[in-house]
Amino acid sequence: MTGVTLEKAVKTYGNVQVIHGVDLEIADGEFCVFVGPSGCGKSTLLRMIAGLEETSAGKISIGSRDVTRVDPAERGVAMVFQTYALYPHMTVEENMGFGLRMNGHPKDEIKRKVAEASRVLKLDDYLKRKPAALSGGQRQRVAIGRAIVRGPEVFLFDEPLSNLDAELRVDMRVEIARLHNEIGATMIYVTHDQVEAMTLADKIVVLRAGRIEQVGAPMELYRNPDNKFVAGFIGSPSMNFLKGRVVEGGVEVAGLGGAVIATGVALPGAGRDVIVGLRPQDITLSAEPSALKVDITEQLGGVAYEYLSTPTGEAFVAESKGDDAIDSGTEVKVRFDPARVMFFDAETEARLR
Ligand code: ADP
Repeated sequence: MTGVTLEKAVKTYGNVQVIHGVDLEIADGEFCVFVGPSGCGKSTLLRMIAGLEETSAGKISIGSRDVTRVDPAERGVAMVFQTYALYPHMTVEENMGFGLRMNGHPKDEIKRKVAEASRVLKLDDYLKRKPAALSGGQRQRVAIGRAIVRGPEVFLFDEPLSNLDAELRVDMRVEIARLHNEIGATMIYVTHDQVEAMTLADKIVVLRAGRIEQVGAPMELYRNPDNKFVAGFIGSPSMNFLKGRVVEGGVEVAGLGGAVIATGVALPGAGRDVIVGLRPQDITLSAEPSALKVDITEQLGGVAYEYLSTPTGEAFVAESKGDDAIDSGTEVKVRFDPARVMFFDAETEARLR
């Protein structure tokens, strides 16, 4: 098992730079998730680690080995793609063993490795079937099995669950987490789904426009984001952002009836604008006469989301337990712990601390 290190990794296509000098250390056995909006460079970065894209400048190491110019097949990595690309005329067993067969491994070794992968992925009942007779989730498990039998030092996953329906996606997410627990290899996983990132990762790397915005454990990013982008990207529903103004004693939020929030952070001078961040989970609503009204309530059973709009034309969401949902049309007062509120610079969007 082996970690992965990127040093000032750059990717340019022609004269367009899409990865701008990324520094990153992924520890041995870590589950690292690259997350960010479409086009931010997640897949490119993963493909650079795999060797499927040439690295334009900088260095990529796997363990202590500089692999920047090493052939993909020699890097000790195995990649699982969004599309499974199984051979339709081969059985599950033959699909999983194909790579080893091509490399001339002995038959009994292939059989043993396929049996082990099949056990881990619960594919024992399907070994003699062809891909056409498998569900999408089973096909994706075969694709993962094909990676496992190669015994790579690092697994690379490129949005492996995107083609599955919502229910299967949840099942496969849990299976991938289980797989990581069982085999303990270094895994790097690309997704645009922040729920996948939160649930799978030891370490999340939030990317934006070819740069790292922040790296940290899921709860570190949730509780302690460095900027408005990360604060808004991690957490579901997203963090609410309201306009605030620095006044004597704190930050005045016009949208919340001019409430002044006392802050423990270094604020710019009085009269300056700041952005006030408040997570839906940190808001408590109570049905009381007020200028604020719930516009729409979404009841999900266990939880409910109340959507509100302020007299200043801003919008925000509160989360409550399903049993405590407040009906749409109800006037409400808003309560929250001031210590949970985050403040961001109105121009740079950096967190004020
Ligand atoms: P993501 O995986 O985060 O959606 P990508 O890594 O696929 O993003 O793409 C990052 C950026 O690189 C995008 O702006 C994309 O348009 C650009 N890009 C990707 N592949 C090529 C290519 N072959 N030629 C030119 N630009 C590319």
